[in-house]
Order: sequence, then C-alpha cells, then structure tokens
Amino acid sequence: MESYLNQYQKSLRDKAAFWREKASSIAWYKAPETIMEIQDNGMARWFPDGELNMCYLAVDKHIEEGKGNSVGLIYDSPATGTKKSFSYREIYQEVSRLAGGLATLGVVKGDRVVIYMPMVPEAVFSMLACARLGAVHSVVFGGFASHELALRIDDAKPKVVLTASCGIELQKVIPYKPLLDAALEEAVHKPGHIVVVQRDQLKATLIPGRDLDYKMVLNTSSEKDCLPLKAKDPLYILYTSGTTGTPKGIVRDTGGYAVALHFSMKYIYGMQPGEVFWAASDVGWVVGHSYIVYGPMLYGCPTLLFEGKPVKSPDAGVFWRVIRDHQVKVLFTAPTAIRVIKKEDPDALLMKPYDLSSLRYLFVAGERCDPATYHWAAAHLQVPVIDHWWQTETGWPMVANMMGLEALPVKPGSSAVPVCGYDIRILDEEGQEKPTGETGYIAAKLPLPPGCLTTLFNNELRFKAGYLETYDGFYLTGDGGYKDEDGYIYIMGRIDDVINVAGHRLSTGEIEEVVAAHPFIAECAVIGVSDELRGQVPVGFVVLKDGAEDSGHLEQELVEAVRQKVGAFAVFRKVHTIKRLPKTRSGKILRKTMRKILDSEPYSMPSTIEDPSVLQELESYVAALNNNESNNQPINQER
Ligand code: AMP
Repeated sequence: MESYLNQYQKSLRDKAAFWREKASSIAWYKAPETIMEIQDNGMARWFPDGELNMCYLAVDKHIEEGKGNSVGLIYDSPATGTKKSFSYREIYQEVSRLAGGLATLGVVKGDRVVIYMPMVPEAVFSMLACARLGAVHSVVFGGFASHELALRIDDAKPKVVLTASCGIELQKVIPYKPLLDAALEEAVHKPGHIVVVQRDQLKATLIPGRDLDYKMVLNTSSEKDCLPLKAKDPLYILYTSGTTGTPKGIVRDTGGYAVALHFSMKYIYGMQPGEVFWAASDVGWVVGHSYIVYGPMLYGCPTLLFEGKPVKSPDAGVFWRVIRDHQVKVLFTAPTAIRVIKKEDPDALLMKPYDLSSLRYLFVAGERCDPATYHWAAAHLQVPVIDHWWQTETGWPMVANMMGLEALPVKPGSSAVPVCGYDIRILDEEGQEKPTGETGYIAAKLPLPPGCLTTLFNNELRFKAGYLETYDGFYLTGDGGYKDEDGYIYIMGRIDDVINVAGHRLSTGEIEEVVAAHPFIAECAVIGVSDELRGQVPVGFVVLKDGAEDSGHLEQELVEAVRQKVGAFAVFRKVHTIKRLPKTRSGKILRKTMRKILDSEPYSMPSTIEDPSVLQELESYVAALNNNESNNQPINQER
C-alpha cells in the first residue's frame, strides 16, 4: 500500500497533475483538458471544460457496465418496519421517470428544487432526478421547522418542492406537509408545484392545481436521459448555519465534487466497489449528500438509508443488527450516536447477538470524538475507529487517517493528518503560523482541492468576507485547534458563534433571533454549553424589558417558540433571566467568556470588558444554580 506521506506531498507539489490523474477514474462525457483555473478570489475552478452528469455516474453507468441487477440502495426502516433493496435498474426506472415528471413541470437546467423529506428512498431519487436534469437541488433537513424552511425557500427560489406526507420519529408520526404549507404561507417566493410522497402512516391533503402526488407524477411521466453538464455547473445548494440568523447557501459544483468523492471513497474510507457503505446521518446534512447519496453511489457501493434512531429502534442494538443484516463494511456516524448507545448499553451486551465480522472501520465526524467514546467503540467493535474532520463547506474530509493508504497510528482526541489536497495551517491573529502545540485558527491554504464550495448562493460578498478575507490566500475554517510534533491535528471547537448539538450545526444567532422577538425581552445571549450526550446544547440568557414581568411562563414560551421556529433538534430547553449581559466596551456580548463560566472553565478577564462586575454577577448566579440542592445537576447538564 502507498504511504500517506508520498501521496500527500504529491498532492501539494503539483496539484493539477495529481487531480488530473484522479479525474481519470471518472466517466466523463468530455474529459477535462484544463484541470485547475485559479480565480481572482484565489479559489480554483476545477476541470472547467469537462462534461459529466452525477446521476449518470451514480446509476446509468453501473447498468452499462452490466451491474443493473446489483443492489445500489438499501432502505432499512425500523420506524416503519420496512427493509427493501433497490437495484441500479430499479433506481434508474424511478429516477429517470421522476426527472421526466419534473421536466414536465417546467424544471430545466439551473432551476432550483427544494427537497424537504424524511429518510425515505424517494429523497434519494429526488436528488438524483434533479442531478439528471441539471436542476440544482436544495435539501432542507426534515427537522427544521416552518420558519427555517421558509428562509431557505426564499433564498433558493425553487420552481418545485418535493416533500412527503410525514416523517416517523420512533413511534411518533410527524406531519411534514402542514410544516411545508406553513413555510409557503410565510415565504414570499411561491414555487409552482409541490410534489408529495404519500406515506401509508398519514396522507396529506393536496391543494388542487398546486400539489401533485409523487406516484401520479411517476406514473404519467416518461424516462428522461441525463443531461451532460459542465464540471463547474452547480449540483446543489446546501444551507448551513452561519453566525447570523440568515443561513448560508453552500454551492457545490459537479465535476470537482465527483472527483473528490470518488477519491475519498477509495483513499479515505478504504472501500472497494460492491461493499456496503453506511453513513448513519440524514440526507438533509452534508454527510447525507456526500456519503449516503453521491459518494457510495458513484463508487458503486450499495448505500444504506436508515430511517431510525441509534436507540429505541427498538433498542440500542439496532446499529449492530443493521451491520449484520446488510454486511456493512464501513459505518460512519457522529460520536453522539455512540454516546447515546453507550449510555443505554454500557457493556455493549446488545452487540453480542450479532456477528459484526463484516465491519472494517467505524468513522466518526461532525463533532469532537472524546477519548472515552473512542475507547468504548474501539474496545467493543474491535475495528479501527477513525475520527475525521470536515464541514458542509468542504463537502468531504479535510483531516483524516486515510484508510486507503498505509494507515498511521491512531491518536485518540486527534482527527489525524491533512487529507491529500488540503494544506492545513494553524494561524495566529496576524496570520502567522503558530508553533507546534499552540492553539490557533485553522485555515487551509488556497486553492482548496476539488469538491469544496465554490461560493455562497447569490452572495459572493458574504463568501469572501466570511471565509477568504481574514487571511490573504487562506480559507478560514471557523474552527480552532493545534498540531502536534507529528503533524496530527486536534480540533478544539468553533471560534465563532456556531455550536454543535448532537453533530448538528446550529447558529446561536438563529436562536437568539427567535428569543429576541418575544415582547418581554430587551436583549439576550444564547450560549452553547457542554452536554454529556449531545456535545453541546444551547442555553438562553435574557434581560427583560423595564416593566416586563415573568409570571412563570417565560421559559416555556421561549422554548416553545424556538421549537416552532427552528426545530426540536436544537434542544433549546433552558432560559435564565439575568439583570445584565457582559459586554465589551463596543457593545459586543462576551459569549465565549460566558460559555467558560457556564462550563466552569478558567477564563481571563477580557481587556475590552465594559464592566467586570457583570461577569462576577454571572459567576455568582451560576455558582448559586450549581449549588442549589433542588437543582442537583450542574448547569451544563440537561434536565
Ligand atoms: P457541519 O458543517 O454541520 O458538518 O459542521 C462542521 C463543524 O463540525 C466543523 O466546523 C467542526 O466545528 C465540527 N466538526 C466536524 N467534524 C469534527 C471532528 N471530527 N472533530 C471536531 N469537530 C468536528
């Protein structure tokens, strides 16, 4: 096996040569002659004159290669008690007709299509159907409530929205269509049509003229061929939380992404075509886009779509049951899933009945993998547990122990080393490199490799300001961390107001907007505090307007408002009313210092503080809360 260092150095020495070779693994309609074109903003446009189609690579190509009867998608749904496999031919039949149906509804190349669905095969088919036409899909995570969905609809301006009548969370049926209807009421933009997958558990009411039944669309449509697209044509927009309440539309291209995903399946995840890959995430997140749908599918690995939870589906042994049933080779999940399983089944007794010999690696990402979780998983699963680090913006891993190359020793607490193509540096405030072992801002030297975001949808200015302008010639990741003497990278968390709840990225600003809208609130700060299971949870601190009086319902009202507007997955459950918020002299709330106080971490008094006594007040408040006998859990734990 090749050494990591050799490949890594090659990838930085001559980027174009490196990626030209990797691009030859992809079936292009027109192979690219130009590999890398550096733009004014320092980012590269990859393979600009190449032509391809992602749906072709994920579906049609396998049929042309004689694998039409091989399984491409496995649907395992403890939520509905369903297990079903789809061959590439079956996927083709559904996707090509759905593409035909969308075309009949007027969807053409470049049009946006919003997909708001639970974890059902139709979500995957919808994404592929858009890719087939060159339409730009924007999948919105089903856990987002109406307001967040409306924001995304207004930004993306879709011609069509695809949805399902309901999702199923454990035993609970969650109606999706009313959430979408409410979002459409709120949104200024009105899509032409809504296509609804009617699930057996709950039928949605369709509005005549606007809403169409997914099955009816399929049954009345003819197959549509893949449209050859330029490598630089966008494949999707995926909204992610920034530091404000306005989500950022990450734009992904087609060619760079295809090459990067293909490369990663082989070199990072160590997969062979035909082996089953399971990313236990959701299609609404980047992991779902890259490693439930496009990565495994274009690499010819059957991909597993799991509609369930790590526990209570029906028990904490469900992940092991799924691995055994489908002979999963690689499982990719967030550390929080492992923590939840570990809590319910500390000795992994529910693992015992299952033969897990198919499993080769467990990959974890989305949040820091704490050493306790690492050791538990490694000891019980008896396979390498690989922490790797990336983000929605990059679309694929930036730091990992690459399993398709000679594996490096694992260091618990570190995501290992930079992936080929990424030149990762730890910088100080002035942009100088930090010495080994010192924490700084994590940045990647431009140009970024293929597969990363090309811009923010309709907002190049925000893209530049947020990512490219802090350090000339670098992409700012938004995370802080350090490198050790062997070049291993340790991710220490966000340097901005983005928090991570059970591997889900959330902006505290998004929640603050909802809290601040309450008529009693003068000002507020939402802080992500440590949580044993979820990594972090948001906690609200509010200052009441003069004359406003909490009659005991304020917390409940604010919690409900966040649940309604952002979604229950935000796990916003605590609100504290305090007299003043600690601020800098220029009026900025000192959120980082507040978080340290809440997490009982040492902090230094910020030099810019307006009034140090406010922090002392907060400290006394937190100490009183933690000492309160009736509330015998520390503040940083959930009720
Ligand atoms: P998202 O864009 O939602 O995937 O969130 C990306 C963010 O999650 C990163 O910027 C990190 O803050 C965090 N993250 C992802 N993977 C890891 C990891 N392996 N270790 C620590 N933090 C991580």
